[in-house]
Amino acid sequence: MFSLANKIALITGGGSGIGFAIATSMIEAGAKVVITGRRENALQEAVASLGENAYYVVNDVTALQHLEGLVAHIENNIGEIDILVNNAGINMKKPALEVTDEEFNRIIHTNLNAVFALTRTCASRMTARKRGVILMISSMAAYYGIDRVPAYSASKHGVEGLVKALAMDFSPHNVRINAIAPGFIETAMMQTAMSSDPARMNKALDRTPMGYFGKPEDIGLAAVFLASEGAKYITGASLPVDGGNSIGF
Ligand code: NDP
Repeated sequence: MFSLANKIALITGGGSGIGFAIATSMIEAGAKVVITGRRENALQEAVASLGENAYYVVNDVTALQHLEGLVAHIENNIGEIDILVNNAGINMKKPALEVTDEEFNRIIHTNLNAVFALTRTCASRMTARKRGVILMISSMAAYYGIDRVPAYSASKHGVEGLVKALAMDFSPHNVRINAIAPGFIETAMMQTAMSSDPARMNKALDRTPMGYFGKPEDIGLAAVFLASEGAKYITGASLPVDGGNSIGF
């Protein structure tokens, strides 16, 4: 029921952090995965450790004009994409009044515009085939207010809105779309946001009832579930995987 045997998953930003953990879990569940990112050496290392069911393509999701070619390349050379995981994302921590329009646009372009463009490209093929699963990676920043991340918060709220809107468009075609909202997960991104800011780190931990930060594999396991037949009646949802952070006092 939770097997991903014979499935092909495209995972953006799969060379590190949460994306790499999703790739690991999906391979363990039987899938083939294609990971993307901008740094070829990171992707090569990732594929070497993921094994024979992993492939990589160097791709910058923000170059929207290349996304159609990316999907065509994968489908022509590896196979039809059954699962899309929109994981690639960037963050920037800066007081809101100091954020320039350029910085704001850069985050929105990566975390929201590119996510929609790649989703549309994959979904046009999935809806024609009448099967497919799409996962978004949201954030606690879409659940409650966090200071100094205005663009990131706006982008993740946008992703949550897309999940609901696109579930309406895609459901008649047997394509499901859901979000995972990770809590505070130990990756390079979290390290950057927290290492110089112990007050923020303690605040995040204090409101996490389980009392510790998550590991990337916690997100990988949830991604397998949502991509599997075990979640066949779940669409348009956002699943917090956060040790209770989103409901913590
Ligand atoms: P990392 O910084 O560890 O990984 C981000 C990945 O995205 C990298 O592999 C990077 O590869 C890739 N990436 C970034 N920009 C692009 C781009 N333009 N094109 C293609 N790939 C890109 O972060 P995490 O693993 O922590 O984050 C993954 C997702 O999880 C993000 O969407 C993030 O917002 C979300 N998240 C993380 C949380 C956490 O606590 N860690 C909490 C909530 C959400 P490369 O640099 O080679 O391009």
